[in-house]
Amino acid sequence: MTDRRAELAQRLAAVRRRIEVASEAAGRSDPVSLVVVTKFFPASDVDLLAELGVTDVGENRDQEAAEKVTRLAHRERLRVHFIGQLQTNKAGSVARYADVVHSLDRPKLVGALDRAAGREGRVLDALVQVALDGAEGRGGAPPERVPQLADLVAASANLRLRGLMAVAPLGQDPHPAFARLHELAGRVRAEHPDAGWVSAGMSGDLEAAIEHGATHLRVGSAILGSRPSHG
Ligand SMILES: *Cc1c(COP(=O)(O)O)cnc(C)c1O
Repeated sequence: MTDRRAELAQRLAAVRRRIEVASEAAGRSDPVSLVVVTKFFPASDVDLLAELGVTDVGENRDQEAAEKVTRLAHRERLRVHFIGQLQTNKAGSVARYADVVHSLDRPKLVGALDRAAGREGRVLDALVQVALDGAEGRGGAPPERVPQLADLVAASANLRLRGLMAVAPLGQDPHPAFARLHELAGRVRAEHPDAGWVSAGMSGDLEAAIEHGATHLRVGSAILGSRPSHG
């Protein structure tokens, strides 16, 4: 256990250093938030991360996230981000434990999450996910539908529109994709001044994301390690 703590501390420090170096290289002095993606890893790791000063964690599957959150000893120190593709029938569950949902990509889901949050008496921070590669298989709305979806989220009583999220296309240079996201985010922000978040950048491309204005990074394997074979 203490070995695991040391390992997490070391990897977390290395990622924080990468963020610092990239921010400096990009001439940015505004803070960049780190969401540590803890999918596949146990609640005990999430607790260690909270002890190490992590304030934001990300999960991508409802069942795993819901179970894990109930086991956390340090829940009150953590903001939970739901970053995965979301089925409408899971909105009720996610609305119970998520503080931020990054993956709104269709009107039906926006409606379901809004109603679910209302039932829980909660207001959730929400981002519209953009599909940057034209492939909708990994979630996200085509860029041309994003402004309308953003308007819909903003008009939802129990959702607070915060900005946009995207995953860079697999196996391609992330720079053009993140540049496109940045441009689209600027257009959304012009209509919705509070929606300034840009959630982009993972273990392999966080420097490119910072260069293109990401405000939130979602980093998993660089901190937690590669996916455990079971558990
Ligand atoms: C798993 C995941 C991440 C983290 O990816 P790493 O490459 O492990 O840093 C980020 N965003 C989403 C949507 C994910 O599913």
